[in-house]
Amino acid sequence: MAWDFSTEPQFQRQLDWMRGFVRERVWPLETVLDELGPEGLERAMAPLRDEVKARDLWAAHLDPKLGGQGFGQVKLGLMHEILGTSPIAPLAFGNAAPDSGNSEILAIAGTPEQKERYLYPLLEGDLKSAFSMTEPDTAGSDPTLLKTTAVRDGQEWVINGHKWFSSNGSIADFLIVMAVTDPDARPHQRASMLIVDADTPGVNVLRDVATMEHPWEGFGCYGNHAEIVYQDVRVPPDALLGAEGAGFLIAQQRLYPGRIHHCMRWLGVAKRAFDMLCERSLYRYAHGSTLSGHQTVQNWIADSAAQLQAARLMTLQAAWKMDTDGVAAARQDIALIKFYGAQVLHDVVDRAIQAHGALGYSTDLPLEAMYRFARAARIYDGPDEVHRASVARQILRGYEPPLGEVPSEHVPTRREAARQQFADLLESVTAND
Ligand SMILES: Cc1cc2nc3c(=O)[nH]c(=O)nc-3n(C[C@H](O)[C@H](O)[C@H](O)COP(=O)(O)OP(=O)(O)OC[C@H]3O[C@@H](n4cnc5c(N)ncnc54)[C@H](O)[C@@H]3O)c2cc1C
Repeated sequence: MAWDFSTEPQFQRQLDWMRGFVRERVWPLETVLDELGPEGLERAMAPLRDEVKARDLWAAHLDPKLGGQGFGQVKLGLMHEILGTSPIAPLAFGNAAPDSGNSEILAIAGTPEQKERYLYPLLEGDLKSAFSMTEPDTAGSDPTLLKTTAVRDGQEWVINGHKWFSSNGSIADFLIVMAVTDPDARPHQRASMLIVDADTPGVNVLRDVATMEHPWEGFGCYGNHAEIVYQDVRVPPDALLGAEGAGFLIAQQRLYPGRIHHCMRWLGVAKRAFDMLCERSLYRYAHGSTLSGHQTVQNWIADSAAQLQAARLMTLQAAWKMDTDGVAAARQDIALIKFYGAQVLHDVVDRAIQAHGALGYSTDLPLEAMYRFARAARIYDGPDEVHRASVARQILRGYEPPLGEVPSEHVPTRREAARQQFADLLESVTAND
């Protein structure tokens, strides 16, 4: 019987190396990001990337023939748990969003020419990309409502639409745009993906939307969420990525493993907050003891540990199911961890802030940034409510209403049935009386 929670020793050594490397070489950079600027960060990353490549950990999400490691989801998950501890660690490992997801899409659906032109330079870090699907005027949680269109005009596609929250859109060299190519098709076959070079006439990047995570105006910063108007943007026929109408199908192939990686990265963030919570409880003295002596704080620590462990096991279980039985089999597990993991991240960071009082609220600690980051987790890649609804729908497929609307567990009905089932026994017992 195979039921194994251990990690093979060779990969465990890689994880141990990563943990030390990220903590000692990447975490310190977080504190001087403003001073470094984008160019300085790139320079700081270069030697780190060389070391990661030398350890065979670069772009691990992709096939070996594309320069990746071909890791399955469990290994990737364990890796992302470590990378998640720092917002910049994925940059050193060649799997920072959205480039990592976009490289997966190009690997899955790209033609040899598209791979040559976009995928390989993306993997080398020579190009930057964005995924441009969400629109301000339609519900991103129901992308069958997309309004952006791509219409054939002779050989070309002409794209018109208004997008926002295209992460990294204002620094991208190319954008993967989701647009309706056949409005009369079935809802999930209406849209296609098109690769659009950012300098194509008609691509108007209006602004980087200021958010809770980056609550200041700016333009062209790494990690931005751009608002973009596509106005009569003409692209050649070979801009189509994958088959016409296959936009949703390809998006799902990117999103399912991506959600597992998100959840593992959130665990990395939450564990860092948890460590701060525990550390604080041991030295802050108030009302006759350190915080660790107060039951409320003990509850925070215990509840956080339980939630972290539950979320971690659930996430690894989803990853394992995907590795063993494929995406379709893991759908429910992935939806479960998407909303549960986001809640765990929020709760643990929230408690760590509370334990630190004013210091927790201040920018002297990374907790307030983690808190803002955590809030978005409940929205992107599908809001909580959509995943909950999907889980409930899938679960309810295994049930049916009871006959005559009498609950299956209705005790008087069951008692009557039991009396018939055990009539002989009941009669003999009563006779003995
Ligand atoms: C940090 C961040 C990064 C992002 N990056 C990208 C990106 O790179 N590219 C991109 O294209 N998009 C990106 N997005 C957009 C993201 O995918 C959308 O915000 C998300 O899909 C939700 O769409 P919406 O914002 O239009 O909300 P809406 O669809 O308008 O939903 C609003 C709310 O309605 C409620 N709701 C919706 N459906 C249901 C339901 N069935 N039952 C009950 N309640 C429901 C939920 O509470 C939901 O939060 C990003 C968003 C964030 C926050």
